[in-house]
Amino acid sequence: MKKISLLGSTGSIGVNTLDVVERNPESFQVLAMSAGSNVDLFAEQIRKFKPKIASLFDTTKVATLKERVADLDVEIVPVEEGAVATLPEVDVVVSGVVGSAGLVPAMQALKAGKNLALANKETLVIAGELVLKEAEKTNSQIIPIDSEHSAIFQALNGEKKERIKKIILTASGGPFRTYSLEQMESITVKDALKHPNWDMGAKITIDSSTMMNKGLEYIEAKWLFGLDTPVEIIVHAQSIIHSMIEFVDTSIMAQLGLPDMRVPIAYALTYPDRFECDLPSLDLATMGDLTFEAPDFERFPCLQLAIDALETGQTMPAILNAANEVAVQAFLDELIPYKDIAEIIRMVMHNHRPSPLNDLQDVLNADQWAREETTKLITVTH
Ligand code: MG
Repeated sequence: MKKISLLGSTGSIGVNTLDVVERNPESFQVLAMSAGSNVDLFAEQIRKFKPKIASLFDTTKVATLKERVADLDVEIVPVEEGAVATLPEVDVVVSGVVGSAGLVPAMQALKAGKNLALANKETLVIAGELVLKEAEKTNSQIIPIDSEHSAIFQALNGEKKERIKKIILTASGGPFRTYSLEQMESITVKDALKHPNWDMGAKITIDSSTMMNKGLEYIEAKWLFGLDTPVEIIVHAQSIIHSMIEFVDTSIMAQLGLPDMRVPIAYALTYPDRFECDLPSLDLATMGDLTFEAPDFERFPCLQLAIDALETGQTMPAILNAANEVAVQAFLDELIPYKDIAEIIRMVMHNHRPSPLNDLQDVLNADQWAREETTKLITVTH
């Protein structure tokens, strides 16, 4: 029986993780849970999965939560205590938190020596070096849940990292893969929230449409599999091949499957083993064609911004990420047009003077600076 702590239980990854747990009650038990602000769903989940402790990020709703679960044997603990990420009897901490808010609990989990099943890519994007150092110090393992990184992780099974020639990171291309530059002028929130293959939360769906998601995944892959390892991005519209590794002998290993996050979640929970999943199988004959094309950096400028941010290093990836979070939220709130997401991030990066990341506080300060700068730019220019 694996004992799990779940961070971000009401988001898309959290809901899928609980689905995997529910299908395998003899293998998994959720001992601790945290959520952002969806108190209705969270109370329901607590009732069903009966964790020992739970935390809610939105402090204005804690009293409501306590009321809802008053009849249950669960302790509601303040989120800042980090108890959900560090509960002693937990084997693996799953992080499905959205955005840079995932960094602090991920670091708490690693510090406590927990294995971390990581869906929150922002943790590695903004603080890769610090996160890896912490994992090494406590000998805890980071198991990627992001489908591309899970694919690479699986393709690397039994192989040596030093034998990788390059990583081939696949991208669906999102809903605007075939749009002209002109068509991209008038994209609405509704258009951008329609992902062709994956059913995900709003933030990551917008990131997929701008291909910032792939840019963040590029940075994530570099931290997970080696900063010196070349990463090639290839657009593969069907999202069946979740990523590949080319080895030094030119042999390529790929991982395939239907686009369903429950598969990489289950793998992260059962690793290094696998278990039977009662999910639909991929039918290749029905699929027919698998297609590939080079990404277009002109129509998807966020991709280059992310690559540049990692190249600059230090605080710059944290700046890229925070500016993106604020700009995406502003687009969702219909404060800025779609095209301005990339433009605003570019301006914030341009205005930033990178500095070294010595500790967690440096990351949080950079994140805060970029949020303020982005908000200011949006207010001034719109
Ligand atoms: Mg992904």
